[in-house]
Amino acid sequence: MANRAVKIYNHKKQRDGTWTFVPVDINLDTRSVKTVPGSFKISWYDGSKKQFSKGHFPYLADAIRAGKAKQLQLQDGNGHESVDAKRVPIDVAADAYLRTTKLNGRPGTYALAEHDLREWQEWNRKNAHHAFVDEITRDDMLTYRNWVVKTGREARTAVNKTMRVNHFICQTLKLKAGDGPIKQKDAEKIIIRKATNDVEYYSDEQLEKFFAECDPRQHLIFETFLKSGCRREEIEFLYWDDLDFKAGTLHVCAKPEFDFTVKTKEERHVPLPMDLVERLRESKRHATGRLVFPTKNGGPLGNSLLVACKRIAKRAGLNCGICPTCTKQKECEHWFLHKFRATFATKCLQAGMDVATLQEILGHRDLSSTMRYLGNLKSKALRIKVDSVWNGVK
Ligand SMILES: [Zn+2]
Repeated sequence: MANRAVKIYNHKKQRDGTWTFVPVDINLDTRSVKTVPGSFKISWYDGSKKQFSKGHFPYLADAIRAGKAKQLQLQDGNGHESVDAKRVPIDVAADAYLRTTKLNGRPGTYALAEHDLREWQEWNRKNAHHAFVDEITRDDMLTYRNWVVKTGREARTAVNKTMRVNHFICQTLKLKAGDGPIKQKDAEKIIIRKATNDVEYYSDEQLEKFFAECDPRQHLIFETFLKSGCRREEIEFLYWDDLDFKAGTLHVCAKPEFDFTVKTKEERHVPLPMDLVERLRESKRHATGRLVFPTKNGGPLGNSLLVACKRIAKRAGLNCGICPTCTKQKECEHWFLHKFRATFATKCLQAGMDVATLQEILGHRDLSSTMRYLGNLKSKALRIKVDSVWNGVK
């Protein structure tokens, strides 16, 4: 009888320095095993002969899954067949999975499943080299996910593709959805370092349309954002005393009354273009309170700044129309206050300002924060170069 218990062992270093296989006392039907790293093997009996899995599993959950698959296989078999003959080769399983998907799903679902699975099979052939479905581990899944990102796809796409493969494995090995090599939450833990030239900023054309939709007050507020490069709170809590009309500067300092603190590097005098200084001076003649941009009751504007920014963009026909918030609530995620600061930084660099000066104006503690905007400069400079190559060639 081949129906003997499948056991899990962990390859562990003992106190005396030797390595031994320590049995792991765990029920194979245990669900939601925490991520326990180790060097696990599974064992079973082939007749009277004890067998061990060839490779090792880096996580306990992987070993449990392989153990369960092995147990199923041994229960199904008559004990006389060679063990490998009963394992499911990936290519056979993939064909079966796609056949089922075609029968059950809509055509679009099938096309997507086929595309994803074939791509993963190709990846497996070149990278992980697994032949059987039960060999696939959590690490394989994470490596695959990262590969999708590295080849230029979005993090969301990578997670979806990985979960598609996970679904395929669960179906093949008859596992419950949560018992696959990777859990959705785990797959979603992904840090995407945005490329330096990915910092979003507004184009001149967008700004022109945006400001055309502003009333005079909004115009002054967003112009101050754009031309000072200040952070939201720095404008929100700006006092008339902070403006030096003669020197044409804006003083960024702490406002404990608003719970607004600034670090040493962030306290600074920001030079403003004189035409903006004049408009601010003009606006001061009608001022009633201490804040430059107050609400009707004299308090700080708070979230209504962002709300206004998004409404103006919408009115100006500047919503992208395809981002999630555009489709859900007609508010574009590409319009936000910090982007005025990014636009300011990009504009300054494009005009030839050096990074150290810009760092001081922006109040960045470290230069690397300022350097992020250099990507935008490079792509623009590259564009000019590329265009000039073909000047005169028709
Ligand atoms: Zn949008």
